[in-house]
Amino acid sequence: MECEIRRVRHDFNWPLDERWGGFLNPRPGPRVCKACDGSGQNARLGVYGRCKKCRGNGSKWRRPKDKRRYDRWRPSNPPKGDGWQLWETTSEGSPISPVFATQQALISWLVADVVRKGRWIGVERTHDRWPDVPRHRGHGSVVMS
Ligand SMILES: [Zn+2]
Repeated sequence: MECEIRRVRHDFNWPLDERWGGFLNPRPGPRVCKACDGSGQNARLGVYGRCKKCRGNGSKWRRPKDKRRYDRWRPSNPPKGDGWQLWETTSEGSPISPVFATQQALISWLVADVVRKGRWIGVERTHDRWPDVPRHRGHGSVVMS
């Protein structure tokens, strides 16, 4: 699992292990092509090639306007603040620790979490200075497995 430390508001209260809503596009995506059942392959028996209905994509947009609206959407980060929180970034991103007032409190929680769950946490060598996470970047990187 890949993780990073994010600086969020102290009162940030998103459920743990749940993807942050700001990272999920709320607009409907393309629909699965019914002609080829999403495979993109030509559905006619004995005929090879791409599906003519979806041009081999396996999915289709209902209207061109829907694709433009979907593509225009941009993700939004959680509210920035002075709090410290660990996020997993393997998927779109979810908080996996409570928000702490200090960096030291987050580190203590991390150490206790390792003991509790028996997980190994290795801090990336490129972040030798961690836990002195540069404040201007807002987050550092941690690798968990
Ligand atoms: Zn198709």
